[in-house]
Amino acid sequence: MKAFREDALAYLQHNHPGDAEFHQAVQEIWDDIAQDYDEVAEYAEASVIERLTEPDRIIRFRVTWEDDDGRVHVNRGWRVQFHNLLGAYKGGLRFHPTVNESVLKFLGFEQCFKNALTGLPMGGAKGGSDFDPKGRSRREIMRFCQAFMRELHRHIGPQTDVPAGDINVGSEEIGYLFGEYLRLENRWEGVLTGKSPNFGGSCGRAEATGFGVIYFLKHMLEAHDQSLSGQKLLISGSGNVALHAAMKALEEHAEVLTLSDSSGTLFFENGLTADQLEELMEAKLKHKKRLSELEMGEYLDGKTPWQIEGADIALPCATQNEVSDKDAETLIKNGVKVICEGANMPLTDEARQAVTQANLVYGPAKAANAGGVAVSGLERSQNAELSSWSLERVDDELRRIMDTIHSRCIMHVDKQDGIYPYSRGANLYAFYRLAGAMLAQGIG
Ligand code: NAP
Repeated sequence: MKAFREDALAYLQHNHPGDAEFHQAVQEIWDDIAQDYDEVAEYAEASVIERLTEPDRIIRFRVTWEDDDGRVHVNRGWRVQFHNLLGAYKGGLRFHPTVNESVLKFLGFEQCFKNALTGLPMGGAKGGSDFDPKGRSRREIMRFCQAFMRELHRHIGPQTDVPAGDINVGSEEIGYLFGEYLRLENRWEGVLTGKSPNFGGSCGRAEATGFGVIYFLKHMLEAHDQSLSGQKLLISGSGNVALHAAMKALEEHAEVLTLSDSSGTLFFENGLTADQLEELMEAKLKHKKRLSELEMGEYLDGKTPWQIEGADIALPCATQNEVSDKDAETLIKNGVKVICEGANMPLTDEARQAVTQANLVYGPAKAANAGGVAVSGLERSQNAELSSWSLERVDDELRRIMDTIHSRCIMHVDKQDGIYPYSRGANLYAFYRLAGAMLAQGIG
């Protein structure tokens, strides 16, 4: 029988040629589980690797919408329903010009492993469109969301597939999508998460991913005899995840040195203050301003946060592959000791290898940013029982889930040179759950 790695690579190259991001995500996981896979003959006999790598289905559709001047535009929309082995498909929707099938396959694949780590009954999926909302009016965004849902509604349902937000899909967009679903189906049901708490959303969902990153980071630090208080953080991004991570980090008495967007970095030499963060959140989340328009800190045009010296911890919270191998080397040279991922797959493959070889404490996205989907799972529970939980209850649950995820990440691994290999631990735990479910559910 051929070795596992050979099978996996041949399968990817033959069936998903050219899907660079998807290959990267799959190979990262397969590298971590290869040895264990080869030791269990049943996995190869049942083609577990091929079945886990191939999505259940990919739905692709045209989205036609009208701008404010009456001009008609066409975008492409997708939903990648990856696996429903552990529960109904679950994962966000992303609207960004870089969205394509490879990106959505990588995100959907990662989502299966992330959701398995939460312990909640959720399968994995991802969707979105190459629509660029930058510079579009609210009415244009609303019309786009309505057109997107006119196709998507026939493929989703509270027991089938429950999408949520992701890049450029926040509670406003979820509101437009949900409204259109209600008009089309005439049935109120928890078909989307990330809704406003005013109509069935969970308290604490908007904050959950960023807060969860900090809860996970605290556990990683404690497991290595450190604490967060007084540590200096480089955070990238200035969207939902980055801003809420910054908020919780300040509450924990850490210093936030940077936030960024795709145009540049805002540098706070003496640390971002709570007042500055409040102003920033209003400007970004409410008025959608660029960081370059804000009068605070030092704006570094065209720069990422990774060159700033004097930091202890890096939290990439923007997008995939935002930390290159050169960035990773700079972070290591500048004395950064911990990387905790808020964004999905923010390190290139080479950067991830450099960080691992340098023995940094490295918290992978599928564990560190799972707080968002976990609270989405809690939103589903609240919708199903027609109830609404207090913010305190949701936050207690989120803390408990992040604690449990941390324990699961170290369940199958020991420290190596004093550091837990969190990535391998997370991948092994999730793989055992997914492969176990696949074998138990028979061939089909
Ligand atoms: P968001 O609110 O739309 O914010 C995205 C941020 O990333 C913005 O500041 C954006 O800057 C920046 N960004 C996007 N593309 C970039 C690029 N190519 N280079 C540099 N910066 C870029 O999105 P989000 O919800 O915070 O998501 C951020 C990351 O977290 C994504 O990887 C997402 O998949 C992941 N995540 C999100 C959740 C969630 O609950 N929202 C859950 C789990 C994981 P511009 O405004 O300039 O584009």
